[in-house]
Amino acid sequence: MTNPNCPHCGAAFTGLICDYCGALAGMTSTPAEQRRALEELHKLIANSPREKQVLLIKNGYLPDETASLIDAGIKCVSLMDDDEVKADRTDAAARRLDAVVIKLRLRPPDSEITRALQLFQERLEKNNKAKFWYGFMGFAVFGILALAIIFLVWFIFRR
Ligand SMILES: [Zn+2]
Repeated sequence: MTNPNCPHCGAAFTGLICDYCGALAGMTSTPAEQRRALEELHKLIANSPREKQVLLIKNGYLPDETASLIDAGIKCVSLMDDDEVKADRTDAAARRLDAVVIKLRLRPPDSEITRALQLFQERLEKNNKAKFWYGFMGFAVFGILALAIIFLVWFIFRR
């Protein structure tokens, strides 16, 4: 069998995961293979420069097997940072975590899934709140500036 190219971006790949975009390029029919593919992706993320990390998080392979899926979620949590809610990487990780939550919700719940869902949802809520405050502060600064300009214009042209 010749080595095919990544079905997602067309780049050549060596393992189960495309080195360029993080999509699944090989076959993962068993839970062990899914786990290996996820580990490859996480390693690739850790060894990539930041802009590429964002791309990898966005397109990265998401496993189906429950334990691997939970691991993927935990990795997302570790990639999120409240001090940079508007940064691409936190945003991409939050979206990926959202996808993990959706996938987990479709499973019949057991104690492990319930615990993971609780953790992930709390983290996403915290991120949304931080994002809200960031947006609100931006809006407040803009409002104050606008008022200052209006006042200045009024002050200059009042006669
Ligand atoms: Zn690719």
